[in-house]
Amino acid sequence: MSNLKMKEAALIYLDRSGGLQKFIDDCKFYNDSKQSYAVYRFSILINPSDIVELDAELGNYILHQPLKAAHVFQSVCFVAVKTLSLIGQLQTETQINIVLKLTHLPPLRSYSLDLCEFPLDYASQRFYMMQGIVIAMTTVTKYTQGARFLCSDEACPLSKGFEYIRVHVPGATESATVRNDFLCNLCSSSLQEDRKFRVLGDKQIVEIITAKALHAFQGYSNSQPFRFQSLTIFLRDESVSKMNIGNEYKIIGIPTCVRTSQTAVCIEANSIISYNPEVPSGISDNFRYLLSLTSSSCWKFTAILANIFASQIVPPGTYNLLKLCLLMSLVQTSDRNKELKDCLDILIMTSDTLLVDRLLNFSIKLVPRGIRHPVSTEIFPTLSRNKYGTGAVSIQAGSALLAKGGICFIGDLASHKKDKLEQLQSVVESRSITVYIPGKKFGDDINQQMTFPVQCSFWSFVDMDSSSRRNMQKTNTLIGRMDCSLIPANLVEAFGLLINCNESSSSYPLISTVQHTLKKAINPEELLYVASKKFTTEDFEKLLAFAKNLNVEFSLEAERMIHGYYLASRRIRTDSISGSKLSASALKYLVSLAEAHARLNLRNKVLKEDVLIAALLFETSLTLKYGATVFCVAPNAVFPFELYNEEYLEQRDIYLNQCQQQLQQFIATYGPGTAIFTSDE
Ligand SMILES: [Zn+2]
Repeated sequence: MSNLKMKEAALIYLDRSGGLQKFIDDCKFYNDSKQSYAVYRFSILINPSDIVELDAELGNYILHQPLKAAHVFQSVCFVAVKTLSLIGQLQTETQINIVLKLTHLPPLRSYSLDLCEFPLDYASQRFYMMQGIVIAMTTVTKYTQGARFLCSDEACPLSKGFEYIRVHVPGATESATVRNDFLCNLCSSSLQEDRKFRVLGDKQIVEIITAKALHAFQGYSNSQPFRFQSLTIFLRDESVSKMNIGNEYKIIGIPTCVRTSQTAVCIEANSIISYNPEVPSGISDNFRYLLSLTSSSCWKFTAILANIFASQIVPPGTYNLLKLCLLMSLVQTSDRNKELKDCLDILIMTSDTLLVDRLLNFSIKLVPRGIRHPVSTEIFPTLSRNKYGTGAVSIQAGSALLAKGGICFIGDLASHKKDKLEQLQSVVESRSITVYIPGKKFGDDINQQMTFPVQCSFWSFVDMDSSSRRNMQKTNTLIGRMDCSLIPANLVEAFGLLINCNESSSSYPLISTVQHTLKKAINPEELLYVASKKFTTEDFEKLLAFAKNLNVEFSLEAERMIHGYYLASRRIRTDSISGSKLSASALKYLVSLAEAHARLNLRNKVLKEDVLIAALLFETSLTLKYGATVFCVAPNAVFPFELYNEEYLEQRDIYLNQCQQQLQQFIATYGPGTAIFTSDE
């Protein structure tokens, strides 16, 4: 009786939700095709809230015994097919394959599967929701949705008809669906598959990890090997190709245990929902107060931020230029699953690798996708044979794709092999990577290739002090140019920002650094400065999360200025032999720098003051790469004085205002509309 009542409820739900009409349309498609299949597959969208309200028993059944609940819908649909004569070819109820697609699950703990908790429940065959980041995926292969079997004894009535139908159920392997050891119920002869009726569907296997596993890429030192467990997700039919490597998703599915050469808990995915974290609503009170105190200037707030940032690692005032650039690169990250266009790659030339390394390690932890690339692994995707023996090739993400929307810190550039550096250069230039899958090697006839967008900023440093390099020092005829002869010049050029960061530079207070190091050695947890107590790491995290989600747009003045500087700079750095030193990506970097500075100021509008900082940073970087030009920028232009108090900040504003005038003069002289060169631009 209860079953009949549920069927009634299912029919009412289908009617009310529009599911019945969709089902009739789907039937029409099958009917019109005139093709006869072993099974006819239908997906039915289920909103658990609606269905529980309509009939609690059916709702409960769907949530906790989905495979049995599908049978209720199967019966209802079969009756509909027969009474309304929807599919002429369809003969038996078993030929109807119903897949219930859930819109969501109740937001209760018992419905979510925490990937960190073991053992996972794979025995109850019900829906769970889990969340994770895709770290590997296979190519798409085929699986058997359904097959028709016939009795091999021609005299038996079951050697015809559609009595023996096998349908894929969650967790079943291919060999469970199609085997050759079935026997006829009537005469015990063996059953044989009628191959012309076999229905194939698409299948893809992805591996996910919990976002918590990313901490393994942040906190530990390079020498410590680590390992984390991924969870396998089976995507079928309409779910195939719905997930991208590096993205985070919420997945509704049924955990099952798959036994092939090894036993593993897998999830048969039912619904996939893109996961976007919530945007924080504000910043800490202390930062808000600081912002209001400095509101008269467009430069003071970010200067103070740079000054006090990472006081756990270096004393305030040390490496301010580098710290400003790191903060700017960090606010150009994105933790939404959207395209990241505004990356800011940073290459640091330093003789102080220990502190720089620590500083960068500290900084990447402030964004969700800050990945410290472990030396033992690959930066870019690699191929392996899929362990479930499905013939598919598995593509492993590698650090760069895992850092999607964030930062990939690859350590010392010289620690990577030449071919990897060439690959890095091509990725930095094209922002994508293509993986070639040789068919021969993986037992396939055709070669395939897959292209992935690379949406992260790369950070790296070069040790200027390593002995091999010291011997290579060449005398440089160009003023301001750095000697970086051991790193391929094209790669250095590909990095948007080149920063010189040395103890000898003016922004390095030696005494306070020594004091800092000694105090930290005695008490590593102690907060040494007032600033580190007032502006904690969490405060910075929140500030960055808030700033990077700001939508910024250029004021007309700022837009003119950035184009003016770009064109003028292109002109003066063009020679008849090698053409222009500024690639097309230069403008993109300049725009990104200006946006970053506006964001860091928590402003929606990019002003000419932001463009000035962008131009100074970019010109400093160009000078290191190619030497100085007429737009002569001092190495310490952004932080001309050490920052101590209000008065110094005031002086810096006056100085930057002068720079602004120089920049405008430079654009007026060499920018668009002026004819100084007759070269082929
Ligand atoms: Zn038989």
